[in-house]
Amino acid sequence: MKLGVVLRAENLIREKEFRRNRVVTPHGPVDRIFSGTLHGVETHFLYGRFPGRRTPSWEIPYQANQSAFDELDVGHQIGTYVVGGVDKSVRGGDLVIPHDLISFSGPSVSMPPGNGRFSNAHVVPAFCPVLRSLLIRGARETGTAVHESGVYFNFYGFARIETDAELNLMEKLGVRLVGQTLDPEFTLARLRHRHYVAIAVAIDSYHDMKNEAEQDPDVFRARSRQAIADGRESFERIIEAGLATRGDDPAEKCGCDRVATGNHRDMFSSFPEDLL
Ligand SMILES: [Zn+2]
Repeated sequence: MKLGVVLRAENLIREKEFRRNRVVTPHGPVDRIFSGTLHGVETHFLYGRFPGRRTPSWEIPYQANQSAFDELDVGHQIGTYVVGGVDKSVRGGDLVIPHDLISFSGPSVSMPPGNGRFSNAHVVPAFCPVLRSLLIRGARETGTAVHESGVYFNFYGFARIETDAELNLMEKLGVRLVGQTLDPEFTLARLRHRHYVAIAVAIDSYHDMKNEAEQDPDVFRARSRQAIADGRESFERIIEAGLATRGDDPAEKCGCDRVATGNHRDMFSSFPEDLL
């Protein structure tokens, strides 16, 4: 297993003496990668998916980040996220390991041609069961409370947060969390048949924010900063403990790198090309 993790893993980078890496990709250089070994696993931390400054979600260099993992031969990826809680059980500061996602907006980036023929990514199951087990085991080992399932609603490509009606709809759909950054990273990683898993920290909750006007913005900001800092530290400990107790996880048994065979899973690839 060669692992890529999108996370500012400041403690592990320092403790394990990871070295800074610069990777030049066809989509531009990626110079915030830290590489080393964690419990026998070659690990590369991408120090945040934003390029060191705040950008709208559609300007995040997803293609360059994924290409950097290609260059490093990363086969397994953990994406870490800051999200909002949607269902009532999620409060600010909670951690969630989602089991699936809804991504209606669609990634507005051009997709890599692969070997010249486009083929849709296989996304059932969405997240790698072996990597999910690794995170759940890491959380239990470290005594960290996490929601071990949930649907992430990806809200990508809008320069705003969700409307009340949108959040209300998500709640009716049974969504647990909402965020702007899981896709297109997820799709780009799965197009490469990369094993992929996500873990998120909620900085607020839809139900607590319903009376947003009554809240002090400074208190909210301070609470969010704390939730993000605590979340990142928990992600580090969970990943480390999950790797430490990995044993002989048969990664190949998860089926992530299998190409879909059922035609109903990919109408596009089963459509006769001469009719396109
Ligand atoms: Zn897998």
